[in-house]
Amino acid sequence: MPELPSVEVYKNYFDSTSLNQIIKSIRINSKEILTENPLLLKKTLKGHSFTSSGRYGKYLFAYLDNEQSLVFHFGMTGSLKYGSIMDNPYSRFVIHFQNSHILAFIDPRKFGRISLTSSMNDFIQEKKLGPDALHINYKFFKQLLKKRRGTLKPLLLNQNFIAGIGNLYADEILYQSHLHPLTHADELKPLEIKKLFRSIRKVLKKAIEYMDEPGNLPDSYLLPHRYLGGKCPCGGSINVIKVAGRTTYFCPECQKLSNS
Ligand SMILES: [Zn+2]
Repeated sequence: MPELPSVEVYKNYFDSTSLNQIIKSIRINSKEILTENPLLLKKTLKGHSFTSSGRYGKYLFAYLDNEQSLVFHFGMTGSLKYGSIMDNPYSRFVIHFQNSHILAFIDPRKFGRISLTSSMNDFIQEKKLGPDALHINYKFFKQLLKKRRGTLKPLLLNQNFIAGIGNLYADEILYQSHLHPLTHADELKPLEIKKLFRSIRKVLKKAIEYMDEPGNLPDSYLLPHRYLGGKCPCGGSINVIKVAGRTTYFCPECQKLSNS
């Protein structure tokens, strides 16, 4: 499921393929992924071009030369593909450029969404998104955490608390912090808060550096060992539990629940 690092990789891909080219036409193969009227969407895009892009949490904003932005949310299986031909059966939304190349939004399970907005800030407010997980500063993070009492795993996944983290990287962040997924936010000691904050940044940056290929991360990371029967580098066995309905992997040796 695309998390912040995937969206950052898609942003770089989008920037290197799709900027400053006039849009000739749009083909919509699956209307259900649109949150806008298809005609309005076509009218807003046709004859214009993308000037730059921005990422916030798990959203990619593609800025147009007419003050509007196309917003991509990749859902569970969304991705972008640029090229001269497109024969992917799951391409849901296709932008044809005048240079005869196309950019397709591919999404087998159709949980992705495409919207329009004239203001990224309004969009973020409307969705009630928390601060971006890569851009939040330590002081603000501490403040936000103070108001929370729930367990850490669901909190990290809560996009209204902090935007961008999904199930996979939440497990890695907790592993790197040596915190059990069921630790309560209000039980954290100051040093643990600092560690958690640093791990969020470290894990997301590392994931981007590794092009969002979790299995390729260094051996000292959880994700290459995150499967049933996986072994932690400490020698312990990786355990799997359900936390708030989400499958959660952790090392009981490295991530002890006790606060003592
Ligand atoms: Zn371990």
